[in-house]
Amino acid sequence: MTDLSSSSYGQRPSRFASITSAQWKSWHWQQQHRLRRPEDFDGVLELTADEREAFAACSDRFRVAVTPHYAALMAPTDPECPIRRQAIPGLAEQQVHSFEHSDPLAEEAHMPVPGLTHRYPDRALLYLSHNCPVYCRHCTRKRKVSNPTTAASTRQIERAIDYIADTPKIRDVIISGGDPLTLSDARLEEILGRLRDIAHLDVIRLGTRNPVTLPQRITEALADILSEYAPIYINTHFNHPSELVPGATAALQRLVRAGCVLGNQMVLLRGINDDPQTVLSLNRRLLRHGCRPYYMLQCDMAQGITHFRTPLKTGLDIMDHLRGRIGGVGVPDFVIDLPGGGGKVELVPDYIVDRRPTEYGETIQFRNFHGDHFEFVDLDIDDQ
Ligand code: SF4
Repeated sequence: MTDLSSSSYGQRPSRFASITSAQWKSWHWQQQHRLRRPEDFDGVLELTADEREAFAACSDRFRVAVTPHYAALMAPTDPECPIRRQAIPGLAEQQVHSFEHSDPLAEEAHMPVPGLTHRYPDRALLYLSHNCPVYCRHCTRKRKVSNPTTAASTRQIERAIDYIADTPKIRDVIISGGDPLTLSDARLEEILGRLRDIAHLDVIRLGTRNPVTLPQRITEALADILSEYAPIYINTHFNHPSELVPGATAALQRLVRAGCVLGNQMVLLRGINDDPQTVLSLNRRLLRHGCRPYYMLQCDMAQGITHFRTPLKTGLDIMDHLRGRIGGVGVPDFVIDLPGGGGKVELVPDYIVDRRPTEYGETIQFRNFHGDHFEFVDLDIDDQ
């Protein structure tokens, strides 16, 4: 079995050279030794002048925290490193645009009780924590994530679960945050048990970036708990193939063995993963470890993340590239979560190049992924 202590492909940064394997494997040690201030990165990264300035400018609005595991994946001297850009603040976060929203998905406006968003009739989003091992600079919930004053109280969580129990049309609950795996095993077990006892729930989902940023959290003890309440649908958030290091893939495999159904929600990020080859490579590696590419999300219109956004055409071109180069199981849905709480819509490349009426209905000319053209006769059923 792969050793969860093997964190990166290369060597650990010199700052962690004396750390024992037992310490490195401990998720508590990783959490307690998160890097938060510029000086914490000495012996890990050579911060640029802009990055240092960004620490001072950004961290009171949206904190900085990086696990040693995730820091060890970063290129020490390259500020454009795709892992580094996800976790080290940049001055572009300070830019304000009139079209941005603090709550782009209107999650707060659809809360029947605090800490629970109920927008689609059959689904509810339950926020358990506003902590995360790493605070991703592209986070869409910057308005509250990383802020300890907005953490959900025990009473608030109880009221939210009561609401789910009292609302039979809810069939699917997504446990989210922040990252719900920042809770203790005992607390998670209690909450999963409460939810599993609700007879009208078909689906329990859990959204977590721990397999990426803190794979040590996926312990045998946690896997046993998840297995007890199987199937738990886990959506994680790998954005780049370099994140799939041995520790992370071992965490995915452990979750699969526990009966979890794994999906990945990649966010399309400018300069990080906005090219077809990177996404193809990521998706191939995810499939190898039992995690299905589920969504490729257009980056939201949240405040301070516009510099990460790509044109819609970029995502459509990536989808066009994927189709034909990887089986359907590796092709995610490319979606925009509409601002204002409109929900998700899927975008697909336009494969129709011509259409003309015929005696049967319509003849449609499609192009395939090679650019070759093929005709399909679409029947007008009313005329048959
Ligand atoms: S793990 Fe998720 S909730 Fe936490 S900072 Fe990253 S994107 Fe936001």
